Amino acid sequence: MSESSKTGSQPAQGRQNIIVVGAGIFGLSLATELHERGYRVTVLERNRYDQTAYDPLDASTENAASVDHNKIFRASYGKKLHYQRLAFEARQRWLELNEQADTPLFSACGMLRVQPSNTLDALEQETLRNMTRDGIRSSQFVEGEEEDANRAEAQGWAHKLLRFDLRQQDERSEDEEAQGYNGHCFAATLDSTAGFISSSEACRYFQRRAEALGVHFRFGVQVQALLQQQQAHPNAPRVVRGVLLSSGQEIACDQVIVACGSSSTQLFPALSYHVESSAGSVAAFQLDAVRDAALWEKYAAERFPVITWKSAVRDGEGRDTGSVYVLPRTKEGVIKIGYRGVKYTNFQAAPDSAYSQKGQWSIPLPSVSSHIIPRQSTSSIRTFVQLFLPELAQRPFAWTKLCWYTDSLDNEFVVDRPPKEEWSGVFVCTGGSGHGAKFLPVLGKVRAEGVMKSFWRWREDKPRGNGLDEGPDGDRNLNRAT
Ligand SMILES: Cc1cc2nc3c(=O)[nH]c(=O)nc-3n(C[C@H](O)[C@H](O)[C@H](O)COP(=O)(O)OP(=O)(O)OC[C@H]3O[C@@H](n4cnc5c(N)ncnc54)[C@H](O)[C@@H]3O)c2cc1C
Repeated sequence: MSESSKTGSQPAQGRQNIIVVGAGIFGLSLATELHERGYRVTVLERNRYDQTAYDPLDASTENAASVDHNKIFRASYGKKLHYQRLAFEARQRWLELNEQADTPLFSACGMLRVQPSNTLDALEQETLRNMTRDGIRSSQFVEGEEEDANRAEAQGWAHKLLRFDLRQQDERSEDEEAQGYNGHCFAATLDSTAGFISSSEACRYFQRRAEALGVHFRFGVQVQALLQQQQAHPNAPRVVRGVLLSSGQEIACDQVIVACGSSSTQLFPALSYHVESSAGSVAAFQLDAVRDAALWEKYAAERFPVITWKSAVRDGEGRDTGSVYVLPRTKEGVIKIGYRGVKYTNFQAAPDSAYSQKGQWSIPLPSVSSHIIPRQSTSSIRTFVQLFLPELAQRPFAWTKLCWYTDSLDNEFVVDRPPKEEWSGVFVCTGGSGHGAKFLPVLGKVRAEGVMKSFWRWREDKPRGNGLDEGPDGDRNLNRAT
């Protein structure tokens, strides 16, 4: 943090001035809600979204998880009933927004959750129990269950209860048999409440709407540091009262909200106990509406659901090669496949003010270095394509990229005021942990109502789980992986 050199640029009397750093999903949601609650809000964003309109393929965009073709919408959360309910609240809002936006932001195309064995795993069973508890079990169709098959037929979902021939995996060792993979396994649930959101389009919509409401945006500005200022009493600790831009300009405010996604720790290193940046691997095929007319139809959201597959197949070194997903083709013809079996870290020397492991912390690679995915990701995605999208098996990828998660220590978001007095004036809104995008329409409101406060609180009392305990010696450190 830097000390303010100016005292002149004080916020105006009356309404509080708030700076939100980051115009991704978390920043946009909070900025809109704060404006509606009477604050004067300015959003500072380093990327030129005013020019790129959040185009996911724009080369000048520095990495931002929200800037993407699509993200999965699901309300299936195993034991986490609080997210299940929040997701349904968000779903209702997405459906309403579909009526208001020029182009639909949410597609209720369903999601087929394919299992690694011929039985449903514990998480899946917990999800089904929770859906039953909330009276929505009828929205789920379990493959092979007659009653569900009949209901799928009656409700027009049977065509998405797809079957795949997984026998191509038959060349396995006995060890793999012992892990429960029988080569013909295919337990699956079709979730008709799930689908995807068009992430970049949703950001564009929310940004324009916030601007029209009166939120002030400045694009192309990199916030370099938070500015601390001495309080009136000489013994009182300094508090944060503004930001320093990389141009050297200082901007005063009453409160700074750090919503920088995977770069949040770099602006506010105190967050680094809570969150770590890691990379998911993404690869895409490009279809042509004319040349690929049959595939264009087959992989459209009307006919093809989101598919997630948690394979138990291990690679030669015993690692999980599964956890792959695909989304229906976009209107531009992109079929996006993501691999999250291993989320890669990038450990670098950490500043003294950060929580570090062996003096290092994991931060995102710059976008220019995030276009090549590790061999393990490529191989898992290729296996998935062979099984689930066989017509594309011989095609080259149109592009690949590492997309940076902001993993929290327990997979819950971090939306709170840090407790130390010297951090007074800072609020953090991050830790999306790979599942935050779907909550864009409700995140800000939920924060204001405080209903998730116990989950999203500042929590240095909690142990660092969710992979954050691994550190630089872990296998998934990109600087070690091949
Ligand atoms: C591979 C992957 C798959 C995912 N899949 C899903 C999914 O299927 N479903 C789902 O719901 N969620 C998913 N997520 C999670 C979701 O994308 C994130 O939770 C969400 O996008 C996070 O938004 P954000 O605003 O916190 O961060 P970001 O989108 O990263 O936005 C942060 C913004 O801050 C800006 N910024 C950073 N530092 C500065 C600075 N110093 N000065 C100015 N600006 C700055 C950045 O440019 C960026 O625009 C996925 C995430 C990843 C990585």
